[in-house]
Amino acid sequence: MKKLYHINSYKTIKVILLTVLLLSFHDIRAQNEENKDGDKLYFTMEKPYQTVNVGQVKGKKVKNVILMIGDGMGLNQISMAWVANHGKLNLDNFKQTGLSRTYAANKLITDSGAAGTAMATGQKTNYHAIGVDINGNPLPSLTDLAHEKGLSTAIVVTCGLTDATPATFCANNTDRDLEEEIAADFLDCNVDFLFGGGRNKFTQRKDGRNLMEEMQQRGYKSVKTWDETRTISSGKVFAVVEDGQLAKASERGDIWQQASMQAIDLISKNNKGFFAMLEGSRIDDYGHWHNIPDLMGEIFDFDKTIGKVIQWAEKDGQTLVIVLADHETGGLTFLDGDIQKGQVEGHYSTGGHSGIIIPVFAYGPQSEQFVGVYENTEVFSKIADILKLN
Ligand SMILES: [Zn+2]
Repeated sequence: MKKLYHINSYKTIKVILLTVLLLSFHDIRAQNEENKDGDKLYFTMEKPYQTVNVGQVKGKKVKNVILMIGDGMGLNQISMAWVANHGKLNLDNFKQTGLSRTYAANKLITDSGAAGTAMATGQKTNYHAIGVDINGNPLPSLTDLAHEKGLSTAIVVTCGLTDATPATFCANNTDRDLEEEIAADFLDCNVDFLFGGGRNKFTQRKDGRNLMEEMQQRGYKSVKTWDETRTISSGKVFAVVEDGQLAKASERGDIWQQASMQAIDLISKNNKGFFAMLEGSRIDDYGHWHNIPDLMGEIFDFDKTIGKVIQWAEKDGQTLVIVLADHETGGLTFLDGDIQKGQVEGHYSTGGHSGIIIPVFAYGPQSEQFVGVYENTEVFSKIADILKLN
């Protein structure tokens, strides 16, 4: 009897131990699943990328403006990227800085629709509005005005073209979510080089229209891949290279950097000048998703593009480059790190946007115009004045 009891209890202990082990494995796995997209709050960059050093441009004449928007990129994001890249960013070349207030007309904490509209059109508007005033009236954007003055224009983004920021330069709608309506506005937006994702909104539509074909009929080279885009050496380009957004930085390679430089290459053939809007759109996503490694990846891709853009601008001598955000995302706090090791640790305080004032960096002739504290609408008025668009 005693022996049997012993065997039984031994078996019981074994079962309990196995159960505990299995449960703990399950726990670890569940935790890993959970961490796949969110709450990755540490990052180490072992090998930093090389940054460039450019000289400051002399002279006052501005022929071209390149507006680079890091969606959701506040000072904590920039500071962490600087530490993670071992104390270096291409952004360090910018000597003129300012601060821009982001609030919307009807809401303190803005979104990319209202903030983009403020910068693209010069008017504060309602949360989620795209290129319209508070009463829903369409407003001309910097790309519209530049086109009217005979300048060439470009929009190059890592999100869908019908997403809020690019949409504010090309479309007019009271609701950013009506993306199929917004897509149709691209037919009349006259931008010479368009690059991004969001193909479904142009081709898989409730109304059955194929807007990629309609763009082709309007004289655009309408293409679906980067390989096709890169071979285009003249004319108007409509490149929609993904059904949704572009893949994250660690998976898409340097196609956004290359597309940005190709856009500049093509539109700079216009002797009257150009206006380009380049957006690192997905910086915002990884703020919403509390994922610092992929956030850093997006900022690095953005900063590498900044390096290429300012080298081009230095050589050109008549190009003003402005780098800013539309708002901050996540209420990110930079908690700790190590510059030598490229280590950072952060903490998010919201899944949405925060209300903090955002930094503006300017390089090139007239860059001093962007020093100071001002409303986001002044980004529009300063650029419009400098390019004499009014
Ligand atoms: Zn956002």
